[in-house]
Amino acid sequence: MKIAVFPGSFDPITVGHVDLVERALPLFDKVVVAIGINSQKQYLFSLEQRMEWLNAVFEHEEKVKVDSFKRLTAHYCKSIGAKFLLRGLRNASDFDYEKTISQLNNNIGDGLETIFLIAQPGYSHISSTIVREIIKGGGNTTNFLPPQVKLDHLNFDKFELS
Ligand code: ADP
Repeated sequence: MKIAVFPGSFDPITVGHVDLVERALPLFDKVVVAIGINSQKQYLFSLEQRMEWLNAVFEHEEKVKVDSFKRLTAHYCKSIGAKFLLRGLRNASDFDYEKTISQLNNNIGDGLETIFLIAQPGYSHISSTIVREIIKGGGNTTNFLPPQVKLDHLNFDKFELS
């Protein structure tokens, strides 16, 4: 069984992430979209909220499983029998960053291979970072987020708008 893990923060999940997963589905038997929990990192949305959105987005996608993990990505992959990582490349800086991580994961993950998909032109400008900035600035994120990611119920005061 060909299993790929798509690791990320998904803070929040964007249409760019969804596009990547959909394009990867024909390549694998199962794609595990997994939130890596890094205790050093500050997130805008709670793990529970991010997981809830992932579950809602992929609810009807039988080949997709949603999960979270605290260990090294390579060790998590081994524990679930995944031999592939899925990552997206939007530009040259993604490449520089991803290249090192991919080589590291291949080394410590006993041949774990990272499969890269190049972002579609219409999505390559979309990042969770940009979306978080728009949210904090009170802007409209409709074009960047899947319909299942609803922000209406959130209290934007907590983002310390000024
Ligand atoms: P991380 O915190 O690990 O960077 P992200 O949630 O920001 O996690 O991104 C996870 C993966 O999704 C990365 O491989 C990133 O390159 C990819 N990705 C993010 N946005 C897009 C996009 N618009 N198109 C294609 N891939 C994307």
